[in-house]
Amino acid sequence: MTEKKRNWKPATQLVHAGTLRSGFGEMSEAMFLTQGYHYDSAERAEARFKGEEPGFIYSRYANPTVDMFEKRMCALEGAEDARATASGMAAVTAAVLCGLKAGDHIVAARALFGSCRWVVETLAPKYGIEATLVDGTDIKNWEAAVRPNTKLFFLESPTNPTLEVVDIAAVARLANSIGARLVVDNVFATPLQQKPLELGAHIVVYSATKHIDGQGRCLGGIVLSDKKWIDENLHDYFRHTGPSLSPFNAWVLLKGLETLPLRVRQQTEAAGKIADFLAGHPKIGRLIYPGRADHPQADIIKKQMTGGSTLICFDLKGGKKSAFAFENALDVVLISNNLGDAKSLITHPATTTHKNLTDEARAELGIGEGTLRLSLGLEDTDDLLEDIEQALAKA
Ligand SMILES: *Cc1c(COP(=O)(O)O)cnc(C)c1O
Repeated sequence: MTEKKRNWKPATQLVHAGTLRSGFGEMSEAMFLTQGYHYDSAERAEARFKGEEPGFIYSRYANPTVDMFEKRMCALEGAEDARATASGMAAVTAAVLCGLKAGDHIVAARALFGSCRWVVETLAPKYGIEATLVDGTDIKNWEAAVRPNTKLFFLESPTNPTLEVVDIAAVARLANSIGARLVVDNVFATPLQQKPLELGAHIVVYSATKHIDGQGRCLGGIVLSDKKWIDENLHDYFRHTGPSLSPFNAWVLLKGLETLPLRVRQQTEAAGKIADFLAGHPKIGRLIYPGRADHPQADIIKKQMTGGSTLICFDLKGGKKSAFAFENALDVVLISNNLGDAKSLITHPATTTHKNLTDEARAELGIGEGTLRLSLGLEDTDDLLEDIEQALAKA
């Protein structure tokens, strides 16, 4: 097996980094669909288990195809080490809980993906870990929530669905000043448009289900950090609780990474054009797009993101009735709660992804009855514009 590690630019890394080529010299990454591994002798099995000889033991611990995905993601993210998981939520749960114990305290931005919010608000307290949720857009709120036992900060930026932005460097500075760690869920920005570790975050998590697969096929996730933190906090947890990514899904995700820059660039360009069109439309109220100068936090976006977003959030002035009529009239754009897919997708958060929140919590997050989230796919932008225009006429 050979492994290359070089100082490549992202697009090159995404095609080559982490490749483990077997003796057959295969060109496409090999899919190692195996649970176990064979040892030549009892002595070598003993050495492998003692950690005296490198190699694989069992695919709950590690697998060559999963290893390639982890190494390629490390190269892209600039991380020392990573652990891939069966879903984005398995990654978030591990990243948030593994470094904590009963009596610790979490401060998290309240604008979180629904299941992430459940992990900090409902699951963590069952084990004696308290959480305070804040409006993450003002650093003063983070400072005010700090307690002597605060050990972890958790945020998502841009947020789902309203594309609010949190100043990652400012929260990282606060975390460092009290010896806490910052976990960033970087799904919406993608690893290409925002580098949380460079901004000072300690741990980055992804749902690879979204842009990394990018073609709506399989679930996956990953936690990236420094080697010491992963060794001390994740290594045993992964071995003994088994949130492991399937080698088949790792292979799909590796193939997804090869085309990630092309897809994200095309989707971001389409989102920019469509956001500009929607911004001038009489039936549209608020429009939030991180690539526009009128985004409420355009100054922070300039500091920490290199691209707009592949998603747009907007309100139809006619509320739920209008939003539903618009969704139902769309032909190219499909109704779904997923994002980052090759297919353009529309979501009405108040009745789907965010329906479990109280009316109050939804109002705090700026999710109204007319709010829609649009995830741009890879269709021709002219067809998308035409589709959106005809559906708005019926809204
Ligand atoms: C989808 C998503 C998750 C959860 O990922 P799964 O792969 O669906 O488990 C977590 N965070 C964000 C921001 C997401 O968009």
